[in-house]
Amino acid sequence: MTVSRETVLKQAAERNVEFVSLQYTDIVGMVKNVTIPISELPDCLDHGVWFDGSSLEGFARVAESDMYLVPDLETFAIIPWDEAAGFVTARMICDVQTPEGKPFAGDPRYALRRALDAAQRMGMTFYVGPEVEFFLFRAGPDGRPALIPHDVAGYFDATTDAATHIRRRMVRALSAFGIEVEATHHEGALGQHEIDLRHTEGLRAADHLVTTRATLKAVAQHHNLYATFMPKPIAHLNGNGLHMHLSLADATSGKNLFFDAHDPYSISKLARHFIAGLLAHARGMIAVLAPLVNSYKRLVPGFEAPVYLIWGRTNRAQLVRVPRISTNRPQSARVELRCADPSCNPYLALAVILAAGLDGIRRELPLPPPVEEDLFEVDLRARQFDVLPSTLGVALEELQRDEVITETLGPHILERFVEARAREWEEYSHSISQWELDRYLPTY
Ligand code: GLN
Ligand code: MG
Ligand code: MG
Ligand code: MG
Repeated sequence: MTVSRETVLKQAAERNVEFVSLQYTDIVGMVKNVTIPISELPDCLDHGVWFDGSSLEGFARVAESDMYLVPDLETFAIIPWDEAAGFVTARMICDVQTPEGKPFAGDPRYALRRALDAAQRMGMTFYVGPEVEFFLFRAGPDGRPALIPHDVAGYFDATTDAATHIRRRMVRALSAFGIEVEATHHEGALGQHEIDLRHTEGLRAADHLVTTRATLKAVAQHHNLYATFMPKPIAHLNGNGLHMHLSLADATSGKNLFFDAHDPYSISKLARHFIAGLLAHARGMIAVLAPLVNSYKRLVPGFEAPVYLIWGRTNRAQLVRVPRISTNRPQSARVELRCADPSCNPYLALAVILAAGLDGIRRELPLPPPVEEDLFEVDLRARQFDVLPSTLGVALEELQRDEVITETLGPHILERFVEARAREWEEYSHSISQWELDRYLPTY
């Protein structure tokens, strides 16, 4: 489906659109926007819209601040909550270009496009189905989010789950953006929920994730709740993951290349190399997939989040899980990467994930045997599995050592990403936590 300039203008006129929000994502994954009145839309579709990129986190230096937003026609959608506020506003997701009309090296969407092009050159299209986890918290007396879960329900609980209607409103709002939801349910922790998006092509999946975060926050706010994607808001409960279901299809026939009926896990040799690539680059790419200081408090044993660089079918601490698929649905063959969290920049995350998998395919990396025991019962230390980095500091060092991942990001994004995150890591390392005061002050 390709959308033309004329279709966009016609839709905008039919729906009485007054404003268009032109959106793009900075290096740390924050959505930015420039709003134009509808009268500017035809010109914007022809020439893009100028903006000053120098004020953005990690985006551009002052000397290279003149940028153009070039809207992706297929992302035209009416923002449902703006309509409720009395404005008809459409949004379009944009690519960022230089005044010469070249893609801007600091645009995360461009980094993903490059990785997707590499897959296309190998004759393959990348598909992604994300599972988005989040908490709904009550607002405190001062209106700011308080750490009070909005309910007392648990995994798939239908009786005490107060958010059934809120989740349905979320699904409705997402569908206004053309985002298809496969399922929603309460997650394992108090006040924790999950929305599973239908798999779609890689660039669209990243666009959908950015839109999904904004949509869930807007709908929650409408109910006086605060939706958070913070990886680990409460120490003794599960954190928020962003599991990604990944597959590669033949770019011409559309056939799923991960399926093999004769394999015990129903996955092809190609899929096995892809998983091997994910395992090989997990330490190098985790800073991109789990980018906050707080992310590493989720990646600990005992909370259904991965720690060890292993794969298998059982749904526990594996980094990569291979879901059991029904034999009459070969098109649904996929692998599930479980280490990302929803605070990541989805464009950069999918770019490095794809590059890691493709590297496994190119080098025909061998896949170690699966691990299916209950990981809480085997002596893991004795097994000596490799583990994910335990802090953001270590993860940033590993990132800079991984040539496949650094090349995928490109020097511009790499430098600014590391700069922004290293600053945060240093600030955190120098701070004195409540835990330290409680533990040491009375004793020493
Ligand atoms: N919340 C868990 C995580 O951090 C996943 C729980 C699940 O989906 N089984 O990834
Ligand atoms: Mg799930
Ligand atoms: Mg889940
Ligand atoms: Mg999952």
